[in-house]
Amino acid sequence: MSSSLAFAPAIDCTRPSPPPAVASRAHLSARPSRALAPPRQPRVGGGARPFARAAVRAMASTSSTPIMVNDLTGKMGRAVAEAVVARGEATGAVHLVPLAFSGEAKDAVDVAGVRVEIASVRDGDPRARLEALMAEHPGMIVVDYTLPAAVNANADLYVACGAPFVMGTTGGDREKLLADVRTARHHAVIAPQMGKQVVAFQAAMRLMAENFPGAFSGYTLSVTESHQSSKVDTSGTAKAIVESFNELGCGFDIEDAVLVRDPPTQVAEMGVPEEHLLGHAFHTYRLVSPDETVAFEFQHNVCGRSIYAEGTVDAAQFLAKKVQEGDADAEKTVYDMIDVLKEGGMVTN
Ligand code: NAD
Repeated sequence: MSSSLAFAPAIDCTRPSPPPAVASRAHLSARPSRALAPPRQPRVGGGARPFARAAVRAMASTSSTPIMVNDLTGKMGRAVAEAVVARGEATGAVHLVPLAFSGEAKDAVDVAGVRVEIASVRDGDPRARLEALMAEHPGMIVVDYTLPAAVNANADLYVACGAPFVMGTTGGDREKLLADVRTARHHAVIAPQMGKQVVAFQAAMRLMAENFPGAFSGYTLSVTESHQSSKVDTSGTAKAIVESFNELGCGFDIEDAVLVRDPPTQVAEMGVPEEHLLGHAFHTYRLVSPDETVAFEFQHNVCGRSIYAEGTVDAAQFLAKKVQEGDADAEKTVYDMIDVLKEGGMVTN
């Protein structure tokens, strides 16, 4: 895995930007990588299962964390499953559980030599199946990359079984999701953006806005973002970054962001490599001074899904550590990628 990121000139997944008419310029670029059921226990309390949490904690192994990826026949799930296998081979810290839930049963798949059965989350008794799997793979963390419509039901299942989970899937009823998981005092990382360097960039902009409000007052902001043509809405990351720039004094209306969704334009004008037309996130935020003598440009050009997949594996390892530390009794059991970033010790990719 070789994504790199720096406040430095953009690297080869992007075409060079037009020459700056200005003094100062910063880029944030990410380069693509090479590219037996156990006895059922009586339920205690509401959504959470204290016995299950204790069991997860007691059984969690420090050697290798088992990771179940739902659904690894989807694009993100597949990328995460591959990252789990690669991380396992490189560090021995994680391994892929040979069963995944999908919306429907499918043929087994091979992920870099690991055969994974695909079961329907709707067939039979998924709760019994998940509990059996957890007993078979102590310390298991579930990763969810499914569909917005499945977010709340899947989270309910994980909570009911006491399975700590990383929710990468976006959408669903987010307020309900957070409330349900917090109320159950269940361990989870929930984040709509798992690209840790992008999250760090977003957090840096937020810190700048909090510490230096109005620093870019009078500057004109322009925002251009290119994503695969199936993405119709403005990116949530762009919205969050613009919010920070507005606190810095820009007064930008997010409706004015230029959304590039046309493949020929993406290739010709944005420099998106053709092989990444179906999965990329190229954002440029350009700030120009009132007299146009100064400009700043912040850019991240993400090709493919490896940045999110690697961040997800980091989040799973982070969560496994939290479970092992026994944080179920601590105030906080629901985390986001800022928590994962703050913990440090992530694998560089
Ligand atoms: P996809 O359509 O390729 O895959 C979704 C998979 O979920 C499909 O294989 C489908 O069969 C399966 N599925 C449907 N219902 C299910 C259920 N009830 N239980 C289990 N599996 C079920 O989609 P994708 O591109 O992989 O994206 C998945 C989600 O991840 C989307 O919500 C997307 O916005 C989000 N995403 C998040 C990040 C992040 O950084 N957090 C990054 C990229 C994508």
